Parts: sequence; C-alpha cells; structure tokens
Amino acid sequence: MSVFNRVLVTTLPLVPKFIVGRVASRYVAGETLDQALQVVRDLNAQGAMATVDVLGEEVKEREKALDAVEKYVRVLQAFDQHKLDSNVSIKPTLLGLKIDEGFCRDNIERIAAVAKQYGNFVRIDMEDHTCTDATLRIYRELHARYGNLGAVLQSYMRRTLQDISELPRESPNVRLCKGIYVEPRRVAWKGYDTVRANYVLALEKLLATGIYVGIATHDEYLVAQAVGLIDKHGVPRDRYEFQMLLGVDEELRRILIQGGHRLRIYVPYGQDWYPYSIRRLRENPEVARHVLRAMLSGR
Ligand SMILES: Cc1cc2nc3c(=O)[nH]c(=O)nc-3n(C[C@H](O)[C@H](O)[C@H](O)COP(=O)(O)OP(=O)(O)OC[C@H]3O[C@@H](n4cnc5c(N)ncnc54)[C@H](O)[C@@H]3O)c2cc1C
Repeated sequence: MSVFNRVLVTTLPLVPKFIVGRVASRYVAGETLDQALQVVRDLNAQGAMATVDVLGEEVKEREKALDAVEKYVRVLQAFDQHKLDSNVSIKPTLLGLKIDEGFCRDNIERIAAVAKQYGNFVRIDMEDHTCTDATLRIYRELHARYGNLGAVLQSYMRRTLQDISELPRESPNVRLCKGIYVEPRRVAWKGYDTVRANYVLALEKLLATGIYVGIATHDEYLVAQAVGLIDKHGVPRDRYEFQMLLGVDEELRRILIQGGHRLRIYVPYGQDWYPYSIRRLRENPEVARHVLRAMLSGR
C-alpha cells in the first residue's frame, strides 16, 4: 500500500460518515432484507453461493441481540421461500457475547435450530482475540447438538494450528481467513509473509485431514497455493469452497467459477454498516483514490 493510502487509512475515522458510506457501498448489499435477497439472487444467477450477514457488533443491550436473532430467522425463512442458495454468517458480539456467554449461546442456538429446520447452515464469524475461546466453545457445543454450524480460524493467530487439532471429530467445517482485527503481537503473527505462510500451513493441515474448508481470501498467491493443495491431496470439489467478500475482485470471482470451483460471496446488509465498512476500506489498496473521488464528485 502506498504512503498516501496508509496515511488515509490511519485518518479514516476523520472522514465524514456520508463519504465513508458512499465509498463503502460496494461492500454492503443495502439496508434492507429485500436488497440483500436481490444481491443473493444475482449472485446465484452468476453461479455463486452466498452467506448473508446482518450487520452489527458489540451490542450492550439484550433487546438488540434478540432483535438480531429475529432478523436472522426472517433471513432463513426468506432463503427457503425464494429457494436461494445461501447460508448465514453471524457475529457472536451482535448476539450478546459481551453481555453474557450463555445468553449468546442461546441466541445462536435459536438461529441454528431454525436453520436446521430448513436444512441450512450457520457460520460463526471470528472476531478479535478476546472472543476466540468463547466462540469456539459455543461452536463445539452447538455443533455437537445440531451438526449444522461452522467456525472461522484466522491465520494471523498463533494458536490456529492448535485450534485445528482441537476441532470436533464429527464433520467439522472451517472458514480459513487471514484475520482482520488489530491484534497484539503476543497473540498474532504480524508480518504479511508470515501470515500468508501460516495460512498455507493451516490450509494444508485442514485439507489433508479431510476437513471441509471455506478458503476465504482474495490474495491471488493464496488462491494459487490453495489450488495446488487441492490438486496435491486430490480433494473433491464438494469438500471445499472459495469465499470472497461482496465488492472485492469480481474478476477473480469469475476466474474461480469458470475453473469449476464452488464459490461463496459474503453479503452483509443492515443499518449498522459503519464499523464493517471502515474495516473493508482499511484493506482496500486504493482507498485514497476512492475517497478523493467521492469527495470531489459531490454526489
Ligand atoms: C468470505 C470472508 C469471510 C471473512 N470472515 C472473517 C472473519 O470471520 N473474521 C476475520 O477476522 N476476518 C474475516 N475475513 C477477512 C479476512 O480475514 C481478511 O481480512 C480479508 O479477506 C483480506 O485478506 P486477503 O486474504 O484477501 O488478503 P489481502 O492481502 O488483504 O488482500 C489481497 C488483495 O485483495 C484485494 N482486496 C482485499 N481487500 C480488499 C478491499 N476491501 N477492497 C478492495 N480490494 C481488496 C486487494 O487487491 C489485495 O491486494 C473474511 C474474509 C472473507 C473473504
């Protein structure tokens, strides 16, 4: 990333919210469920699956967490009703993890139970390192009872190879990503190449043991490594999927689909778009150009 982009990334919180919203709109389906469903429909028509995320995190009030549960129930009902190929991704801190772990587990259980009723699947996103233990505990407990949940592991975390060893024996399902939160060095690898190398190690460990993997990255180097590992271990096409975020590298998306790989797009929607959008903009290597253009366009 250029120096100018880096400077802008550190000063992003100073950029007016309407400019952030304008630039980040490519990453978010919209504010309503109908908008999210339309994006999923379009993705399905292009040969991609989806996973829908109701935006929001770090809730402090029980009512907000319960409201999010009901939104997820409506999302799952809508997938069934409109025959859409999509599952859901949930954030434990939206569902009350920072209020009480048991309350959060009960909320995730309700979503998992509804998903099971519709033959669907729930991915539990991984947030910052203060959430890792509780998130994996909830995943293990509910997966043992419902069998339709998946976890996320982050290759920047030093513990990830160990976490793979401790996955449930019964049909575990893991999304592997680099990790997006700003973590202290005592828990996370810091170098770009180190995080990449650990991604390859973790991915090989997952694929070699037959664990279903969601290979979540837009890093062409990692995509190439993944294709090589899939070939090396003779992994069948239905035992993995690539995953990408809405609004990022649509060309790579098409290349993967044309290569015969299954691909799932992460589709966030909702009114609470700001923190998610800031994280996405921080990763965009051309953030400065986009922000400047939005400021100058006056639209
Ligand atoms: C489906 C999915 C789910 C995820 N779930 C989680 C999760 O639960 N927990 C978590 O911590 N992280 C999650 N992430 C985020 C992930 O950890 C990374 O932060 C993110 O994917 C960027 O890493 P990368 O592997 O794409 O590599 P990078 O090196 O960051 O990016 C590779 C290239 O992709 C392009 N690119 C990447 N991001 C953007 C962007 N925002 N805008 C424009 N271009 C971009 C650029 O060309 C860049 O050079 C998820 C990512 C995906 C794809």
